[in-house]
Amino acid sequence: MSIDLRSDTVTLPSPAMREAMYQAELGDDVYGEDPTINRLQELAAERTGKEAALFVPSGTMGNAIATLVHAQRGRTVIAGDASHIYNYEAGGPSTLGGSPLRPVPNLSDGMLDLDKLRAELTDESDTHIAPAALVCIENTHNRCGGAVLNQSQIETIANLAHAQGVAVHIDGARIFNAAIALGVPVHELARPVDSLMFCLSKGLSAPVGSMLVGNKEFIRQATRVRKLLGGGMRQAGVLAAAGIIALEQMVERLAEDHKHCKQLAQGLADFPQIEVDPERVATNILIFQLRDSQQQPLTPAKTARFLQLAGKHGVLMGSMGEKAIRAVTHYGIEAEHITSAITGIRRALIDTDIE
Ligand SMILES: *Cc1c(COP(=O)(O)O)cnc(C)c1O
Repeated sequence: MSIDLRSDTVTLPSPAMREAMYQAELGDDVYGEDPTINRLQELAAERTGKEAALFVPSGTMGNAIATLVHAQRGRTVIAGDASHIYNYEAGGPSTLGGSPLRPVPNLSDGMLDLDKLRAELTDESDTHIAPAALVCIENTHNRCGGAVLNQSQIETIANLAHAQGVAVHIDGARIFNAAIALGVPVHELARPVDSLMFCLSKGLSAPVGSMLVGNKEFIRQATRVRKLLGGGMRQAGVLAAAGIIALEQMVERLAEDHKHCKQLAQGLADFPQIEVDPERVATNILIFQLRDSQQQPLTPAKTARFLQLAGKHGVLMGSMGEKAIRAVTHYGIEAEHITSAITGIRRALIDTDIE
C-alpha cells in the first residue's frame, strides 16, 4: 500500500470515533436539538476560549460564513497573498458576499507584511476606496510550509486592525498544530481575534466537519448564513461524535506528526537533488523543491514526472504551485513509513533522470 503524504485530510476516523458515531445520541440540529452537536459546540467554545461555536460542514464554509458576517457588501476582506482564503476558496468573500478581497504579501514565516497591511486598513474618508472590514490570518500557514504564528505576531496584527475598527478572523484549519508546536493552549492564540475557524477533518482525523467560534452575536448571525449557504444539517451528530473524539483524544498526538515531518525533511536533506531546510519544519507540512546539478530548479514538467514516479514507488505527495512539492504527515503515518518514504523518494529521484 502507498504511503499517502498528499494531505492530512486523507486520515480515516479512529476506532474510538467509529464507536462514538455508532452510539451518538441524535436530533434535528436545525432545531438545535442534536445533543451531540450541542456538546461538540460547547467543547469547541471552551477549548478556544470563545462564547459560542457552530459546527459547519467544511473549513471553506466556515471561512465563507466568517467573511459574510464580518464584512458587508462593498467592504474589503484582507488576506495574505499566499493564504488559503485568497487562493483556494473559489473567491468566497467576493463571489458570495460582494466584498473585494485585498491581498497583502505573506512573508515566508506566514506573517503579513505590516506596512502593506497598514495601507489596506482603509476607512470611509476617501470615496474612491472601499473601506476595510476584516483581516484574515492563517495559522498554521499551509503555503508557507506549515509555519506557525505566535501570540505576539497575532496580537500585532489584531491591534493594528482593531485600532481601525476592523475585525480579525483566524483561518485556523490547523490551529491545534500551531498550539502544540508553540506549547500554548489554543485559547491563548484565539484571544486577540474576533473569530476562528478550525478543521476537525485534517490532523484531528474526524471524517467531516469544521468549527467556527466567536461571541454569541457572531454565532447567531453565522447560524443564519450557514442556513443561507445550505450548511444547516439534521442528525449530523453522527459526525459531531467523531469531532468530540478529535478534540478529546487527537490533539496531543499532533506532536508525533511534527516529529515525523522533521524526520522526513532530515532524510531528504541528504539528497543533492532536493532543496529543503529541515530547520524550517515547524509542524506537519514539508515543502521542498527539486534542483539539477547546476543548482537550478527543475521544470514543472520534470517535477510532475518525479511526483508520478514517486507514486509508482509507493509515495504519494502533492504539488504546490508549479515547482514545489508538499508532503504532509498525519495520523496513521509512523516513523517506519517515513523511512520507507525516503527510500521510495530516492528511487524516484534516480528514475527521474535529473541532469
Ligand atoms: C483545508 C484548509 C481550509 C479549508 O478546509 P476544507 O474543510 O477543506 O474546506 C482552509 N484553510 C486552510 C489553511 C486549509 O488548509
